[in-house]
Amino acid sequence: MKFLSLKCMRIFILTSLLFTANSSTYSLAKDRATFEVVYLEATKKLEKEIKIWIAESHEIKLVVSLINRELNLKEPLKLVFGGEDGPLFDNGINEISIPYGFLIEVQERFKQARYSSKAGITNKEASMDALMHTIFHELAHALIFQYELPVLGKEEDAADGLASVLLIEYLEEGQEIVITAADLFDLESQDIKEYKDEDYWGEHSLDIQRYYSSMCHVYGSAPIKYKQIKTNEDFSKEKAENCIDDYDNLVNSWLTLLDPFLNSK
Ligand SMILES: [Zn+2]
Repeated sequence: MKFLSLKCMRIFILTSLLFTANSSTYSLAKDRATFEVVYLEATKKLEKEIKIWIAESHEIKLVVSLINRELNLKEPLKLVFGGEDGPLFDNGINEISIPYGFLIEVQERFKQARYSSKAGITNKEASMDALMHTIFHELAHALIFQYELPVLGKEEDAADGLASVLLIEYLEEGQEIVITAADLFDLESQDIKEYKDEDYWGEHSLDIQRYYSSMCHVYGSAPIKYKQIKTNEDFSKEKAENCIDDYDNLVNSWLTLLDPFLNSK
């Protein structure tokens, strides 16, 4: 486990929402397709707690507001919390599903790893970071479907890439969120004691690869601020330079593809 000790008190601000955080200052055109959140009923005690936590969170409200403000969706898109399956995007009904159970698992994993004391953030903050990354990852699948975007390479890698770009480019301290999400991939990778063939031909890259890719995005986005990543991960000079070029390429590629659908630039 390679935790960064860079995290300190979280001051969470969506830079592009500084003037729209108060939703009354921003209203959508009536005919615009919107992104909305639905909370299914929770039955178990833990799920009920998770539901209240998410529903009351400032972060989810801001993420929804950001998506509605920045993206001109072709069709209405729902983010549904609850249910059994997910996280996933179902293109048949234009819904992103995230079960409450997923958040329970994430919280438990961070707790077991004593992540809070190592990373300097609370378990809830870490879980919210992972949730935000997950929402943007699933949003990528939805946008690829709705806008019929070309995908070169694995769609799952592309979705991780958009999650990094949106978090880093649109959110103050977005890099810290990506680092937490990467650390979760690292924790998940520890479940595998021995790789099987299906791990190699799976839709997703291996969790440990997703960890390194995400850390590479963070380093590449701000190599001076995050020089500790290069040291901690033992990145060679060449690898570090590749991260900078790759991140630049990733941002340009995604913003070029999304350009026709962005409301403001
Ligand atoms: Zn995916």
